[in-house]
Amino acid sequence: MNRLRPGWVDAHLHLADPRIDDPGALVEQAEAQGIHSFLQGGVGPEDWQRQRELAQRHHGILPAFGLHPYWVSDHTADECESALDQLARELPHALALGETGLDFRPHICKDSEARQIACFEAQLEMARVGAKPVILHLVQAVDEAERVLDLFGAGVRGLVHAFTGSAPQAEAWLKRDLHLSVGGPVCRPDLTRLHQAVKIIPMDRLLLETDSPDQPPPGVVAGHNTPSSLLLVADKVAEIKGLSRAQVLDKSRENLEKLLYANQSANHSANQSTNP
Ligand SMILES: [Zn+2]
Repeated sequence: MNRLRPGWVDAHLHLADPRIDDPGALVEQAEAQGIHSFLQGGVGPEDWQRQRELAQRHHGILPAFGLHPYWVSDHTADECESALDQLARELPHALALGETGLDFRPHICKDSEARQIACFEAQLEMARVGAKPVILHLVQAVDEAERVLDLFGAGVRGLVHAFTGSAPQAEAWLKRDLHLSVGGPVCRPDLTRLHQAVKIIPMDRLLLETDSPDQPPPGVVAGHNTPSSLLLVADKVAEIKGLSRAQVLDKSRENLEKLLYANQSANHSANQSTNP
């Protein structure tokens, strides 16, 4: 399985998205700017397969498999059930479980609340058993997400991707031991509430992402965002934190490395201690 490479990292994006014609070109472009690892957000079984193919061609592609709330909303309970079985079998080939979570925006949800909650609970349980960090997609479902995380998330580490909330909401996730990942929207001058939140997130819990091809910073066309825009995200976060671009990108990489490999090294040392 591919591992985090030396250099900067995009903590969340979708290079296996069918809208991207030439993911290899985007990888090369990002590498020329010092970005060498790319943690994917999984959507559903078709996307996991595309990730695996891409990961064989590009060593910086870090696969993550999960059932995205969009996918859950578009499929029946039976289809979700069999996809969860497949996920349990394939999860050992991924570095993280996700995206998983809840999205209750009416145009996404279409009365799939109960199915989304059931799949979210099952995936948290799977992440705990498989010792994988989770990638959380939580939109307009904060109360329910907090309830599910408190019931099923004990011992599960992970990141809230595309965080755009307030400082109190950041504190609520931090209290649950989660990392917060911010992307293109932080570059918008009008999102002062998010800038205030970024100010209070400790540097050792902050990650930087692009979510490309979505979540573009201002000036980039929607649906055409690329991993190279990570530098714009880093510049804005650096400005808010009073640090340099390199400092925030180095820290984001260090944080992701700990998140991805913490359990592994814990298991490794546990094995070592039982095998002197
Ligand atoms: Zn995503």
